[in-house]
Amino acid sequence: MTPADLEFDQRHIWHPYTSMTRPLPTYPVESAEGVMLHLADGRQLVDGMSSWWAAIHGYNHPRLNKAAIEQIGKMSHVMFGGITHPSAIALAKQLVDMTPEALECVFLADSGSVAVEVALKMAMQYWQARGEKRQKILTLRHGYHGDTFGAMAVCDPQNSMHSLYQGYLPEHLFAPAPQSRFEGEWDSQEIAPFAALLAEHRREIAAVILEPVVQGAGGMRIYHPQYLHQVRALCDEFGVLLIADEIATGFGRTGKLFACEHAGIAPDILCLGKALTGGYMTLSATLTTREVANIISNGEAGCFMHGPTFMGNPLACAVASASLSLLAENRWPQQVAAIEAQLKHELTPLRAHPAVADVRVLGAIGVVEMRQPVDMARLQQHFVAEGVWIRPFGKLIYLMPPYVIDREQLSRLTQAIARALTTLY
Ligand code: PMP
Repeated sequence: MTPADLEFDQRHIWHPYTSMTRPLPTYPVESAEGVMLHLADGRQLVDGMSSWWAAIHGYNHPRLNKAAIEQIGKMSHVMFGGITHPSAIALAKQLVDMTPEALECVFLADSGSVAVEVALKMAMQYWQARGEKRQKILTLRHGYHGDTFGAMAVCDPQNSMHSLYQGYLPEHLFAPAPQSRFEGEWDSQEIAPFAALLAEHRREIAAVILEPVVQGAGGMRIYHPQYLHQVRALCDEFGVLLIADEIATGFGRTGKLFACEHAGIAPDILCLGKALTGGYMTLSATLTTREVANIISNGEAGCFMHGPTFMGNPLACAVASASLSLLAENRWPQQVAAIEAQLKHELTPLRAHPAVADVRVLGAIGVVEMRQPVDMARLQQHFVAEGVWIRPFGKLIYLMPPYVIDREQLSRLTQAIARALTTLY
C-alpha cells in the first residue's frame, strides 16, 4: 500500500463515524492471523477488539477458511425466495438447538441492524395480526441497537443524536438505564420507572427491546441480571413481547453462551449477529417462537413482510455453521473464564488512577472508563506504538479480545492501557 493509496482512502472513503473533511488516521492492515493484525509496514498488533465483538476464534482460522472455500466451490450465493440450501438448514438447526427451547423460527438477514429491524417488524406485525394497533417500543437509555432508522429510534436518544433526525424517527419510550452493578447489590426500586412506563402505556407497547446485561456501544455498562429478570416478569404480566438484542453479547462473550442466561430468562424474539460467522462476514439471525411466528403468518398480510436479496447467503451460512461447530466443542467457557480472571487481576488496579472513573469486567469484556473523553487519535497512536490494537470511544478504553488470546498477549493489551495512563495522563 502506497502513501497515495492512503491519501485516496482519506479523500474518498467514509470510515465509521468519521468526517470527510477531518478524517481520523487509518492504519493499513494487510492480513491477520490468530490474534495478530499485520500492518502494511510490517508491524504486528495484538488485537484487543475482535473486530467489534466478531472475531471470537481469531483471524484466518483454518476451519472457517475451509468452510468458506468449500462453499465457494459450490456456490457463493443463490436467492432464498423459493430456494433453500444445506448451509442455511445446517445453521438454522444449530441456532434452534443452542438457543432457548421456545425459539424455533429463524430469519436470516444481512447485519445486526437489519436483525433489529426484523425483530421490530415482527413485533408490529404480531400485534397487527391480533387486531391491536401497538406501535411503541419500550427500551432503555444508554442502549444501542444499530444505525438504520428503526434501530436508531431505539438507541439512546443522546448518543445516537435523535435531535438530528427529529420528525423522521418514530418516537419510542425510554426507561432510565439500570444502575445496579452486575456483582453489586440489587436495588429493587430500580425497576420502578420501567414498570411505571410499561403500566402507563400497556395498550400502545408492542415490545420491549434491550441488550441483556451488557449495554455495549451506548456506554459499555454491565448491569445486574435481576433487572433483566424483572423485565421478563413484567413483560409477561402485561403481555408485551421481549426482544433480546444479543448481537454483541451472544456466543459466549459474557461468560454464558447468551447473556440472558445470567438472569435465567428467554426472550420472545432474539437478535444475533457479529460473532455468528466468527467475524468472517456479515450475517444476522432473528429467532422467535412458534406462537409469534404463527400469529404473524395468520395475520392480514399472510406472511412476514421482509426478504432481503442476500437473505440466507450460503457463504455466510457455511462459515457461521463452522463457527458454531467450533463453539460446540466447548473450549470457550474455559477460555472466557481465563480471560475474565486475568482482566480482573490486571485492569482492576487501574481504578486507583485519578483519570479513571471506573473499571468493570465481565467474561471476555474489560472496560476502563475515564473521567473525561479520550483523545482517540493520540491514544490510538500510543497503542499502535505499543504493538496492540485497542480502539477507544468517548470516555471508554475497552478490551474484548478473541477467545483464543493467550496470557502473554492479553497482558500486552492490559499493560498498554496501564502505560497509556502513566505516560499520557
Ligand atoms: N445491536 C447491538 C447490541 C450492537 O452492538 C450492534 C453493533 N455494534 C448492532 C445491533 C448493529 O449491528 P450491525 O453493526 O451489524 O448493523
